[in-house]
Amino acid sequence: MRLVILGGPGAGKGTQGRRLCEALEIPSIATGDIFRAAIADRTELGDKAAPYVERGDLVPDELTIEFMRDRLTKPDAKQGWLLDGYPRTAFQAEELSFLLSDLGQRLDWAIWFDVPVPVMMKRSLSRSRDDDAPEIIRRRIDLFHNRTIPIVEFYEMRGRLLRIDASRDADTIHQDVLAQIG
Ligand code: AMP
Repeated sequence: MRLVILGGPGAGKGTQGRRLCEALEIPSIATGDIFRAAIADRTELGDKAAPYVERGDLVPDELTIEFMRDRLTKPDAKQGWLLDGYPRTAFQAEELSFLLSDLGQRLDWAIWFDVPVPVMMKRSLSRSRDDDAPEIIRRRIDLFHNRTIPIVEFYEMRGRLLRIDASRDADTIHQDVLAQIG
């Protein structure tokens, strides 16, 4: 099974992603975690990505796409995967399609954990630290709209989008996703 997960802050993407990987026995490939680990280990990728990650900017498409091309052709990626944090731009989404067709593979679903903005606000605030002021959370929500909605539309147009009502409790959401992906 090959999955992409999408969702704003407080959508429960982390929890649901972990549960899906366990249930389906597929690796999770989370670009944010990979970049942070590469920076800590001072690898070549880490050194190149560091200035962007530290500013909260997106790492340039060229670097990110090249890394993913390499990562998705590794042996453990043969049986499937769950991508968290990739694609983040329409260009990355296009490139992922090209890569998969080169590999003779296809994406099963892009799963969108959809929650209304007030729920995103409430959940983010309830787990926030002191420095997570409402303005910062609102900025994250705006960023999500600007960046993620185009990706949602990309997959919707291709008939690959699964929209999940993620305002429900975690168990219900998990069961619903499993039922829908078959
Ligand atoms: P995250 O943990 O997913 O919020 O990612 C942390 C940081 O890693 C982001 O702020 C970006 O700098 C970088 N990053 C993660 N995924 C991508 C991506 N698909 N494209 C570009 N940069 C990314």
